[in-house]
Amino acid sequence: MATKNTKEDNYSTSAISKKLEGLFELQLVDSQIDKLQVLRGELPIEVSDLEKEIEKLNERLEDQMGVEEKSNNSILEQKQKIEDANILIEKYNKQQMKVRNNREFNAINKELEFQSLEIELSNKKIRSFESELEENSDKVKLIKAKVRARKKHLKTKKSELDVIIKSTEKEESKLVSKKKKVQKSIEERLVTAYSDLRLVSKNGLAVVKVDRGACGGCFSSITAQHHLNIKMRKDILFCENCGRILVPDDIG
Ligand SMILES: [Zn+2]
Repeated sequence: MATKNTKEDNYSTSAISKKLEGLFELQLVDSQIDKLQVLRGELPIEVSDLEKEIEKLNERLEDQMGVEEKSNNSILEQKQKIEDANILIEKYNKQQMKVRNNREFNAINKELEFQSLEIELSNKKIRSFESELEENSDKVKLIKAKVRARKKHLKTKKSELDVIIKSTEKEESKLVSKKKKVQKSIEERLVTAYSDLRLVSKNGLAVVKVDRGACGGCFSSITAQHHLNIKMRKDILFCENCGRILVPDDIG
């Protein structure tokens, strides 16, 4: 008799109602925890994306610095060539004054012409390296400005994240202990069914209210009889389409 009574009690309207209320409360707590995690879940990604971007920009900056050094070295090289050519020109000019015949004069003249051409070529190269340097310095300025902007953005995001972590830590631990308490008041098999449903549910909803004759989770309509059974708290009932636990809209 005692067993029968317990069984009857377990399936009485008030017992079912209590179970549904427990499940619904569990869902509310879990949804709140989900919200906190979503808030936190986006900022760390934003922060790490920004950090990666800054790292890449710094690498580009280093590359541009390398270009600058190379161009500067090339300019020095060309200047040295000009200096060498000028020394030769001076030497040839002196030699030309001491020539004994036309053949020697012409030979030196050719050398002088050649060195002048070398100087001209070096000057041309220097101008081209200088314009490269100018272009490069514009690029460097642009990258540096980008790095500054990203760093500023990163600082903001990091402090936002810190604030959220600090503020949600307390709230989350409160919610987690509340969840444990609620869970204890519900039969284990129901908690398991609930957890399994939550795992496969995209939005983390395992328990939903009936909303204007439709499932509040997948929005498919519920038969009048099913709706009535839910309203009368006849049993733990599920949406025939998505499998979520349905609770009457007047719950809680
Ligand atoms: Zn549904």
